[in-house]
Amino acid sequence: MRMVLMGPPGSGKGTRAHIISDLYGIPVVTTGDMLREAVRDETEFGKIAGKYMSKGDLVPDKIVNGIVRERMMKPDVQDGFILDGFPRSKTQADALDAILDELGIELTHVLFVVLSDDVIIQRLSKRRSCPKCGAVYHLESAPPKQKGVCDVCGAQLIQRDDDKEEVIRHRLEVYRELTEPLLERYGSRGLIVETSGEVAIDELSAYLKALLG
Ligand code: AMP
Repeated sequence: MRMVLMGPPGSGKGTRAHIISDLYGIPVVTTGDMLREAVRDETEFGKIAGKYMSKGDLVPDKIVNGIVRERMMKPDVQDGFILDGFPRSKTQADALDAILDELGIELTHVLFVVLSDDVIIQRLSKRRSCPKCGAVYHLESAPPKQKGVCDVCGAQLIQRDDDKEEVIRHRLEVYRELTEPLLERYGSRGLIVETSGEVAIDELSAYLKALLG
């Protein structure tokens, strides 16, 4: 399986990516996580990327395409992968086609997660994240055992700058303008599988297995 996960920010792509990864034994390539790591490590690219990310803008294609290309050349993706959060623009989709051409492989699925803006805003504005291990919580539906503290590693939880309501609205605009048009491209190749972003978490694994076979 060689999959791209598409859908608006906050639709649950990351959760689905990890479940599919467990089900099929293939790695997840998440540009958001790779970029957040570069920001944390204060790398040259991280310093540039952080400025775009905190405002909810896309990091320049050149940086992201370079990071993805490097990752896709590693041997563990040769037997399959799930791309989460990439491509997000036409230039990125062109870059992905070129990378896959070079590797002599093609995408098999584009899983499109559908969710309304209202639900997204309510989900993301109540999301809290662990800056140390990346665990994600929701103040109402999946709170940490101890308020403000990560269950996994004990670090203090934060609200990501880009999970504040006005930034979320901007991220949704960016998604509609630059990313959503890619659905047409992948639709014309017959790759799209649609799925609801509202399936309960404890049912997701069985649901995705039935959907993807
Ligand atoms: P995410 O965690 O996927 O919502 O990504 C968080 C932020 O990282 C986005 O709002 C962008 O600023 C940046 N980002 C992640 N993936 C990409 C991408 N493919 N292209 C450009 N920016 C990205």
